[in-house]
Amino acid sequence: MSEKSAHQPTLSFEIFPPNTKVGEEKLIQTLSELKGLTPKFISVTCSNRQHNIEQSTVRLADYVQNQLQIPAVAHLPALYLSKQQVNQILTALAQKGIDRVLALRGDKIAGVPTKGDFQYASDLVSYVKSKNQAFTISGACYPEVHPDSANRVEDVLHLKQKVEAGCTYLVSQLFFDNQSFYQFQENCALAGINVPILAGIMPIVNRNQAIRLIQTSKTKVPAKFKAILEKYEHRPQALREAGLAYAIDQIVDLVTQNVDGIHLYTMNQAQTARDISQATQALFAS
Ligand code: FAD
Repeated sequence: MSEKSAHQPTLSFEIFPPNTKVGEEKLIQTLSELKGLTPKFISVTCSNRQHNIEQSTVRLADYVQNQLQIPAVAHLPALYLSKQQVNQILTALAQKGIDRVLALRGDKIAGVPTKGDFQYASDLVSYVKSKNQAFTISGACYPEVHPDSANRVEDVLHLKQKVEAGCTYLVSQLFFDNQSFYQFQENCALAGINVPILAGIMPIVNRNQAIRLIQTSKTKVPAKFKAILEKYEHRPQALREAGLAYAIDQIVDLVTQNVDGIHLYTMNQAQTARDISQATQALFAS
């Protein structure tokens, strides 16, 4: 068997902390279903505007790691955090046995002054590493270039600095055109970025998501995908099936091309994660 055919990609999920009691109850149910899909890890997002990260992201990551017994990754956007706040969060995570963070800068919020301790995600990566060697640190990456970057060369060079600061793997922004991802992988390889890159996939399964995507997304929406979204905009079940099929098609292609892993943006929807996982189960089996 060739080395390529022996390669096993990982499957991981992303969830977000709900901000209502009902959302929280629904998420607990979702998580019990996600557990059965045996993801490699579940990552928990963290709002840039969140003032009590320990009660949101850390608490949910604790549930994932210690109740569900699935490795949890805590997202940590640090632009508006001080070193002291980051210390507290890292301590809280470590006390709960969570030793994985996705180190982020976070989006800039107009009119809100930053704390000044972490200008870029790489500053946070270095800081976490200096505080606690036990943390596994990952970083975000952008196959279609981060919107703040002047060009893709600059973006990849900054990404390389982030990896050299201590990221052991990268998770990509969502994309709908696999060619963007393959080109990005090639650019990373040329720049000497050798860590695994997980491909971020978001299944589009409802009208609101579809409209938001077409109107506001900075992500490239291929003509084939746009046609699906427009044709089935008013037929919920058809849109759901077509959106799932599109995501599954992306995953099959990526896995066939030896992607390191698929990171599924679940939007806290168990049904979507289950449908995708079941349709692609054998692709991830060892
Ligand atoms: P950085 O890596 O710091 O990059 C930001 C920009 O700065 C890029 O243009 C980069 O090229 C440039 N840059 C980097 N270093 C330098 C340098 N030394 N000099 C000049 N320019 C530089 N946001 C949240 O608020 N919460 C989340 O939970 C969250 N989860 C995410 C998960 C994933 C997988 C992804 C892809 C994104 C996520 N985001 C999240 C969004 C992210 O915070 C934003 O995209 C943010 O604008 C950039 O964060 P970053 O960590 O990628 O920043």
